[in-house]
Amino acid sequence: MSVFLLAALALATVNENVPFRTALPKVYLIDYAATHVGNPEYLETIAAAPPDILHVGHDLAFKSHLGPCRGFGSFPASYDLMSPDECEAEITRLREYVDSLHRAGARTVIPYICDVFLFGDHEKRTGFWTFYDHWEEYERFGFGERPKTDPIEWMQSDERRPFERNDMFVYEPCINHPDWQRYLRAIVRLVAQCGYDGVFVDVNSFRCPHACCRSLFWTYLRERYSVREIAKSFGFDSPGSVRLNEKGGDLTAVETCRFRAWSFARLFTMLKNEGEAIRPGFMLLPNLSPMAHIAGVRQRIGNGQDVGRWATACDWLMFEEMQQPGLFGASTISDCTLQYKLAFANRVRGGMLLYHARDPGGVSLAMAEAGAGGGGALIQGGYESPEVRNRYHAFWRENRDFFEGYEPWSQVGVCYFRDELYWGNLEHLRAIYRLRAHLSEHHVLFDFIVDGGLNREQLCGYKAVILPFVRHLSDKEIETLREYVAHGGVLVVAGDCGAFDKLGRRRVRRPFLRWMNFPDTAGLPPIRHTGKGVCISLGGLDEYVPSPAFNLYDLNEEEANDIGVVMRRAQEYPDVPKNPSPLLGLIMPLAKTDLSVAGPDTPRTVQVSAFVKRDAAGGVLVLHLLNYNLPIHGLAKSGPPVPVHDIVIDVPLPQGWRAVSAETIAPDAPPENIAFAKSGLRTRASVPQLDLYKVLRIRCKNTLEH
Ligand SMILES: [Zn+2]
Repeated sequence: MSVFLLAALALATVNENVPFRTALPKVYLIDYAATHVGNPEYLETIAAAPPDILHVGHDLAFKSHLGPCRGFGSFPASYDLMSPDECEAEITRLREYVDSLHRAGARTVIPYICDVFLFGDHEKRTGFWTFYDHWEEYERFGFGERPKTDPIEWMQSDERRPFERNDMFVYEPCINHPDWQRYLRAIVRLVAQCGYDGVFVDVNSFRCPHACCRSLFWTYLRERYSVREIAKSFGFDSPGSVRLNEKGGDLTAVETCRFRAWSFARLFTMLKNEGEAIRPGFMLLPNLSPMAHIAGVRQRIGNGQDVGRWATACDWLMFEEMQQPGLFGASTISDCTLQYKLAFANRVRGGMLLYHARDPGGVSLAMAEAGAGGGGALIQGGYESPEVRNRYHAFWRENRDFFEGYEPWSQVGVCYFRDELYWGNLEHLRAIYRLRAHLSEHHVLFDFIVDGGLNREQLCGYKAVILPFVRHLSDKEIETLREYVAHGGVLVVAGDCGAFDKLGRRRVRRPFLRWMNFPDTAGLPPIRHTGKGVCISLGGLDEYVPSPAFNLYDLNEEEANDIGVVMRRAQEYPDVPKNPSPLLGLIMPLAKTDLSVAGPDTPRTVQVSAFVKRDAAGGVLVLHLLNYNLPIHGLAKSGPPVPVHDIVIDVPLPQGWRAVSAETIAPDAPPENIAFAKSGLRTRASVPQLDLYKVLRIRCKNTLEH
């Protein structure tokens, strides 16, 4: 392998010591219509409310799934191979088209490719095979020599699915097959040559058992284990003996999942580098599928989708969700808080494709979520509600100081480890969804702590750390948690945390029980003071985190995708009263602080997130207040919001900080000075009215330095 190729393959390393900070949210539109190119009316639509990111469909001469096929539809009515000269002319026309979109005000324009689908018929030589059989004629476009293997040999699966049009089938190539990779790299170069600023990569799911992956799996393992360790832990003595484990249950299965996620990160890096060489700053934005429901996450475990591992290769990713934010029925909240927090914790910006957020209320609340989530975007389908987008766009740009360069200000850390899912630990997954909703509804400022994040620097900021069914912990992680408690932290351990090490070896005794000197039996006292802090050992969460009878995250994918079903189900449940949280009731006296930052009368539909920025004189604390009481009436129909009055915010400030001013801003209300008062180490302020979204900024002086 050449040095150049090795450099190109090197994955970007993330500097964990530099805090990940908030960024100005983006206005992001998506539309795959085939009628955009050379269409003056389309340019007028764009110019009326220009997005930061415009995501178009197949506006390319060479499509990833079909090759040089005429037209811009996803699935053209008839396959019509363009001649090389026609391709030249088409690329020239597309360059002018992308330029015209830039002139209309779209800053970043990206088209669609897919890394795991090919369309055609390998027997009748139609679709992609038409192109493959004429490959040499197109070499000048950067495809190089015709691959020696027929595309039918690139596939991850022997199955092909019939496609209802054109007598074609859908095939699934393996992202690790070198010939398919070579083709995708040429496609991305052509994307960049058309003047696009990046590329969207769709589907991203693979489970290939073939030689292309077995040999690479050996390479992957060798980067992590010695030959002896591979023999001992996996039973492979050579590249030829390697097998992947689909079935789960052991370290080979876990490494198979990690390997697939690593394979995507590797492919994304390759593709991004191809674009970057032609268009500096080239963006690569992959689709990570939905995370609104546990069933969707569960069925994709091990298919290569992994926020943390992908974040090493790209700055943005898409969550593809069907719903819109707001309130179903009397008490079922639809939000993207989990997705935004997960993306932020993994140091990547999340874009939420919410198919039904198109009406003014839905667009407004979804754009507000991007601000409250620390950056990212609503990915809006189509162009409805331009006045709302323009209002938010202006609001963000005029108030950059509220949105850019902040770090999270949270009192609680919740460990959400992707690797637990690779071990088949669904209890962890369910606990995360439940805890997330519970903490949001009780106005607790919290972050996710993700794989690799259990370190002193991260933990020291939290009053409490929750470890929900995290079964696999290293000795070092356990030691870090012990130090955290010794220095005064409150650690909540739910379930059999740390029962195994990272290689899946069972520990003789569960570490937190041993450390607290509890007997390994049921009926334990749950609380033990140790050092300056406390460890709480809970058998489970049922008693402490009561779950409402109906949750959107419990729906299966089919149900969740049907708004009629969601509305019917939500309406079956009456308004749930907001009872005090048993979990907070347990933690707060031990943490000696109030972990809820909004008064007890604040409804569950209000969610709060907070960020800080430090400067020479002191700093700034911003709190984002969102009101999800935006009744959803049907598909892309919501509102008006039911305002909340007199919200008492009572928030701890960083050590030594004293509030000197407080004000709110909102996209739909004038700025307002807010009365505030010091109460111990906290500051109390009252926000008179919240419709959908307000940002409360508290400027502070650092009294320690003055
Ligand atoms: Zn493969």
